[in-house]
Order: sequence, then C-alpha cells, then structure tokens
Amino acid sequence: MRQFDDPLAAVAAELFLPMGVDGVYARSALYEDVVERLAAYISRQRDPRAEVLRFPPVMSRAQLEKSGYLKSFPNLLGCVCALHGTDSAISAAVQRFEDGGDWTGSLTPADLVLSPAACYPVYPIAASRGPVPRTGLLFDVAADCFRHEPSRELNRLQSFRMREYVRIGAPAEVAQFREQWMQRAPRLAEELALPCKLDLASDPFFGRVGQVMAVSQRQMSLKFELLIAYYAGATPTACMSFNYHQDHFGAEWGLRDADDQVCHTGCVAFGMDRLAVALFCLHGLRPARWPQGVRDALAL
Ligand code: ATP
Ligand code: ZN
Ligand code: MG
Repeated sequence: MRQFDDPLAAVAAELFLPMGVDGVYARSALYEDVVERLAAYISRQRDPRAEVLRFPPVMSRAQLEKSGYLKSFPNLLGCVCALHGTDSAISAAVQRFEDGGDWTGSLTPADLVLSPAACYPVYPIAASRGPVPRTGLLFDVAADCFRHEPSRELNRLQSFRMREYVRIGAPAEVAQFREQWMQRAPRLAEELALPCKLDLASDPFFGRVGQVMAVSQRQMSLKFELLIAYYAGATPTACMSFNYHQDHFGAEWGLRDADDQVCHTGCVAFGMDRLAVALFCLHGLRPARWPQGVRDALAL
C-alpha cells in the first residue's frame, strides 16, 4: 500500500484500507478479528472487582480542559466544531462552499473534544460518587482515541483504540497496582510470542516547558512502556504504558478518601492497534499458522 513508507507496506495492505488521510484507515476483517480476540484476552486478565465502562470517541471539552490537557499536549488535541449560527448563517456557509469558497470559517467549537486517551472521563465519574472507598476503585475502560499526529507509519495512527485498567486509591495501592502490571505485561507478551522490553519513558509534552516536564517525569519514574520491535532492526514501538499520575487527577477532581486524603491514580494502557499490528508483523498474515501458544491465548 503506497501510503506506508516502511518495510511493512505488504502487511499494511492486508490490514488497512486508505480513507484519504494519513493515519486514518478502514480495517479489514482479518485485522478486526484479531483486535476482538485481543480485547477478549485482555478482558480475561481483568480483576473481577473492576467496573467496566466503555466510552464514546468524544468527551466533554470542559472536562479535558480541567484535566490539564492543554498544558501538556495542545498540539495533539482534536476539537469538535459545528455550524452554530442561525439558519441563514449556516445557509451562507454552505453557499460559500457551493461557490468553491471556504465554509470552515463559519465553524465554532462545540462542547466536545475527541478523546485523546481512554481514562480521562473516568475521574469525574468517580468523583461524582462521593468519597472513594477505603479499598480504592478499579476500572476497565476503553475508547476510540484521536491524536493529531498524522504519520505514514503503521504504528502511529490518528484514530486508534485504547484499553485501560485504572486504579484510584491510596498512593501505596496505586504504586502496587502499577508494579504488578509491569511484572505481568512481559509475561502476557511472552504468551503472545511478542519479544519485548520494558523501559522508563516520558510523555511527549509540548514546547520548552514540556521538555522540563518530561525530564522530571523520568526522574520520578512516572511512566514506563512495553516496547515491541515490529521487525529485526526496527525502532521499538510502545504498545503498552504504565502511568502513575500521583495526585494530579485526584486533586483536580476532588477525589478523596473517607479520611479526606487526596487519592492518587494510575493506569495501564493497552494500545490495541499497536498490539494487533505487532502480532501480524511478527507472526505473519495467516493467524491459522501462528504459534500454537498464541492461538490458544487468543482462542483462534
Ligand atoms: P508514543 O510515545 O509512541 O507517542 P505515547 O506515550 O503517546 O506513545 P500513551 O499516551 O501512553 O502513548 O498512550 C497509551 C498507548 O496508546 C500507547 O502505549 C500506545 O500503545 C497507544 N498509542 C498512543 N499513541 C498512538 C498512536 N498515534 N497510534 C496508535 N497507538 C497509539
Ligand atoms: Zn490513562
Ligand atoms: Mg504519543
């Protein structure tokens, strides 16, 4: 497929169909079946106490603003716009388009953004329920996410699926949750025969101030990633991340326990598309021929 500039073009052609914009693709049945089985595999790892929530691809703009997203990643955000004017203003905008002109100048922001990660909407929901129980909270969330990072690389989509387990509670409980997942994730990758490496990471914070934020995030070991190379010699791709937000969301949303202590939060994120692409790149385009252990794990 022409739009991919990497050695994975042949794989991409079987999985993705172009939709006219880099990083946005229709998905083939072959691909989607594996994504679904992978999702079921991750569900089987779920702690029975987790509350399952599935979010739409959009979320409240006000909630994302309050979460501090504009301070950290304004360059990645996609905001929903609409024609909010009167009927005659809307007609005039359409007429400008019909006349070969620009209609988009009449758009104004709606109260929605495209969700840039699956976990943002869960904190205000948890906060709305009053004090966090002594044992904390655990959620299983997922969303179609958008990030404005157009690319021709198979591992960097603008629209992709993210699944997360999110822990809210006392600092030690959140730290333990993340620690357990960091031990478990390489074992899951091994079961899927995906060679991987766990490494300290930082988020791509925006601008000069962002560089300072990234350094401090590393110094405090707040983010780790599970990296998988799609082929020998490839730069490894982050397919999962293990994030400790300290009291960032707890303080912003007023998440407090029964003793009025601000809760800490952490999440483990599964990049569903990156993991599925990894399976195809490393095991080939015929799931029927994948290693038996992988087929068993995915119930193929
Ligand atoms: P990267 O450094 O590669 O941009 P990230 O640090 O931005 O990744 P997170 O914010 O931790 O990634 O997102 C959680 C997971 O979502 C990632 O580990 C990855 O698997 C997936 N993901 C993030 N950005 C993309 C993208 N543009 N396309 C596909 N999957 C993505
Ligand atoms: Zn998260
Ligand atoms: Mg990124």
